Amino acid sequence: MPKGFFIRMRDRLWGAGIPSVGNEALIRSIGAFFGSDLSAVRFRRDGILPYIVPFHYSAVVIGNNVNIRRGAELVLTNPRIMAEEMFHVVQWRQMGPIRMSITYVWHHLRRGYAGNPIERQAKQQADAFCAFLKAESRR
Ligand SMILES: [Zn+2]
Repeated sequence: MPKGFFIRMRDRLWGAGIPSVGNEALIRSIGAFFGSDLSAVRFRRDGILPYIVPFHYSAVVIGNNVNIRRGAELVLTNPRIMAEEMFHVVQWRQMGPIRMSITYVWHHLRRGYAGNPIERQAKQQADAFCAFLKAESRR
């Protein structure tokens, strides 16, 4: 089987990579803030997620893949949203894929999106990153 076949299948499922996103410096500074190397993170679009995720979203993180809903590309350069999504990448790494996906769905079903502690933690971290950016810009 040619290698290109698997890449095409992956792109069909997870979405194809978005070329030259232009947020590399932002992602690097978020990575430095969280103490995490985010160079393996890929931004993708389309694939099956827009069809199977049961709520409207701008971005969904699965491991190192960040799927951006088509039409929501502006979030790619938004510091608060990117910091939240990058913290989800960190959570996937800390918990591992099985614990992360089960824990996420469990809390989502019990408390909804806004009450999900995984979301609350990521939003707190995104707030902390934005406060850091603000403090930096005042120096
Ligand atoms: Zn989130």
